[in-house]
Amino acid sequence: MDVTITNIRKEFGQFPALYDLSLDIRSGELIALLGPSGSGKTTLLRLIAGLEQPTAGKIFFGEEDASEKSVQERHIGFVFQHYALFRHMTVAENIAFGLKVRPKANRPPAHEIRKRVSDLLDMVHLTGLEKRYPAQLSGGQRQRVALARAMAIEPTVLLLDEPFGALDAKVRKELRRWLKEFHDRTGHTTFFVTHDQEEALELADRVVVMSQGKVEQVGTADDVYDTPNSPFVFSFIGESSHVPVTVRDKMVLFQGEPIGTTENGEGPGELFFRPQDVVVTTDSQSLYGKVTACRRLAGTRIAEIDVANNGHEPYHLEIEVPLDAPVAVGADIRFRPTRWKLFGQ
Ligand code: ATP
Repeated sequence: MDVTITNIRKEFGQFPALYDLSLDIRSGELIALLGPSGSGKTTLLRLIAGLEQPTAGKIFFGEEDASEKSVQERHIGFVFQHYALFRHMTVAENIAFGLKVRPKANRPPAHEIRKRVSDLLDMVHLTGLEKRYPAQLSGGQRQRVALARAMAIEPTVLLLDEPFGALDAKVRKELRRWLKEFHDRTGHTTFFVTHDQEEALELADRVVVMSQGKVEQVGTADDVYDTPNSPFVFSFIGESSHVPVTVRDKMVLFQGEPIGTTENGEGPGELFFRPQDVVVTTDSQSLYGKVTACRRLAGTRIAEIDVANNGHEPYHLEIEVPLDAPVAVGADIRFRPTRWKLFGQ
């Protein structure tokens, strides 16, 4: 099911939680909504579900205007971080719940419900556990039951709000892979809210980066990591540092000294770069600073560097340095970004 969100605005009292937000989601996409706390991710999910009404704007499921439809009519599957299973029901009863409570006219016959539950148990790899109660399951198993329950009603759209947020890192990683496979097999249009950018980048077909009630960028993991379209996205996704520069006659100048060339822009701007996109050099056309710390980070080594700022608070930058050539704390160092993006030109 395609989902089209057009000029949605949501105010809580006077407070706008979402401003004029538009998105075109294609049928079958796995979409991650990623952004800092309070950026409006859950509000957007609740609007899609029909749990909140927009102040302005519309949401279409396919060609149909869903804005006027009730939660039930929208036929949504939900999984929330703390959306507890029914404790007094077995796994099978939990999964069958959404079908059993349907009015008689729409309710599948009992043998069909049993077959659907059995297929879903197989799909979420929980066959054999159907008679257990939620208290007899691990956290990861419970969330898989929650997903099977959401899928039982054959939803038009699947909404997942931090579904693995309460689980430990290792289980989260396993479930992440599993969810990707599950999505690839079932092909439901899915919105997935997460704080965790690694999760978003690994899982999603496209990531919607949100900040302060607005969409900052929509793109694949490569798009948002390699070509961020704003200082916010550059800083928010992955590690980065930035310094103020001036572009004059295609030269990029930091504190009056050239550190590179550019084809774009003229005048003051902000130069953003990632720790791995630098080269340590002795060349004078470079940034110059003092190493304040050096730490091993898995397969890399990161140096923290203070670059003097004309008597003001120094610029604190982080760069990757060769593993086999650790730099000494207190040493002076020169380096030059080899790949960067300039904003504010
Ligand atoms: P988090 O990652 O912390 O869950 P979020 O990105 O999901 O945050 P929302 O929960 O959508 O953010 O909240 C967006 C903004 O709207 C926040 O500033 C929040 O305080 C406000 N907000 C959300 N729900 C309500 C409500 N029912 N009444 C008033 N303000 C609300």
